[in-house]
Amino acid sequence: MRSNLLVVSNRGPFTIEENNGSLKCRPAVSGLVSAVLPAVKKIGGTWLAWAGRFAEKPGEVQAVIKDEFQFVEILLSRKEVEGYYEGYANGVLWPLCHLMPEKVKLSEENYQIYREVNYKFAQRAAALLRSGTLLWIHDYHLALMPHFIRQKNSWQRIAFFWHIPFPPVELFTIQPWAEELLRGLLGADIIGFHIDDYRENFLRAVERVLRLPVNYEWGTVYYNGREILVKAVPIGIETKNFQKEVPEIPEIKEEIAGQKVFLGVERLDYTKGLKEKIQGFARFLESNPEYWGKVKLLQVAVPTRENIDQYQAYAREVLAEAAKVNERFGNNQWQPIKILKRNYSQEELIYLYRIADALVITSLEDGLNLVAKEYIASKKEPGVLILSKRTGVARQLGAALLVNPYSPEEIALKLKEALEMPDNLKKKSFSFLKEQVILKNNEWWLENFLGKELRFMDTGFGKYY
Ligand code: UDP
Repeated sequence: MRSNLLVVSNRGPFTIEENNGSLKCRPAVSGLVSAVLPAVKKIGGTWLAWAGRFAEKPGEVQAVIKDEFQFVEILLSRKEVEGYYEGYANGVLWPLCHLMPEKVKLSEENYQIYREVNYKFAQRAAALLRSGTLLWIHDYHLALMPHFIRQKNSWQRIAFFWHIPFPPVELFTIQPWAEELLRGLLGADIIGFHIDDYRENFLRAVERVLRLPVNYEWGTVYYNGREILVKAVPIGIETKNFQKEVPEIPEIKEEIAGQKVFLGVERLDYTKGLKEKIQGFARFLESNPEYWGKVKLLQVAVPTRENIDQYQAYAREVLAEAAKVNERFGNNQWQPIKILKRNYSQEELIYLYRIADALVITSLEDGLNLVAKEYIASKKEPGVLILSKRTGVARQLGAALLVNPYSPEEIALKLKEALEMPDNLKKKSFSFLKEQVILKNNEWWLENFLGKELRFMDTGFGKYY
């Protein structure tokens, strides 16, 4: 195993639970893990993350799991998780970056805890770094960490990937800690975003808030005698993982018998536009009674961030909206919407993707959206992709049926268009989409964002190509 890559993220590839004194390790799912895990498996090294376990006293035992790479757990107290994760990262940065300032709850105390936890991650990471290790930090939970590492080691190579949108400077600076956050990120040598808009928003924020010289064309910033490179490289998926044979799910097969299937796969997050999708679907049923009894919206709705009030309220609203539509249009034989409120494994998702006539994504704002790529990679027969224009992935998958998620009328029209699309057109647009997803796969992402760094650090990366 090569060990000169150290990946750090808030949640990692495993959740660890304590069961009668022994530790139980379950694979964890998220967009970040889907993207980073294949890369880490290829390269090897160490992954440091919080695995969901709380520690109230310092010095409690942390687990180290050896797989194709080494996983090192960091323990956090409940107070830390409330302030850092729920309070600042998900209560301020998440809504701000998704252009929803009305949802932001500013708290100086939470920000200070975020700071402390970032410092704690940095301390832990520093102890794992060896000379020649490339440190790769992920996402908005750990924005201050590059700075803390840089303070200790001026020579350390640090890469950072920001997985969510980066908002316009006017929004970013609603929070009073914008400057420190930007300086935190600039501790890295290379910073990645999914698309150009986010990259430009970041550069503009650096220019305006820190008054630093920025080169937009080259994506460079000069700061404290160092050149920092800022890139836009959208994550790609490991397409071969989605080509395997998978078993049927009998209860789903029964549920959809004789109907056309619209599929949705989302966490129950207010940015994902689940309510808007259901309202658009209701509008479609209203104007197309000939489809009653013949279509179904299968909506995977994965519980998420359940300790946060806004998320509990949103989950209730989505379920209520679906129940209203079922009540209005359904009968004893047919219910138009089926909400599947749990987490599905990759194998199960592949089955769902394959039986869906169309995948419907109506995110109000979404950094990229990997589900869109997974749908295209999984399908053997052409399927239709209805895709919110407000996702990062819409920049790559322009051959999809693009939709404004704020318009129920537009969603309704696209649903009808998807059902009635002539076969030759469906085939053509699907093959464009597939080509993009395969060409810009996980390896492409890794090579384009980090290839040079990985080779420079002698991680053994080049030999895979
Ligand atoms: N996912 C999963 N099981 C589920 C729902 C989603 O494993 O029941 C995975 C999905 O395959 C994808 C990721 O979670 O890889 C979601 O990533 P995306 O970028 O679409 O959204 P995010 O949740 O990261 O905002």
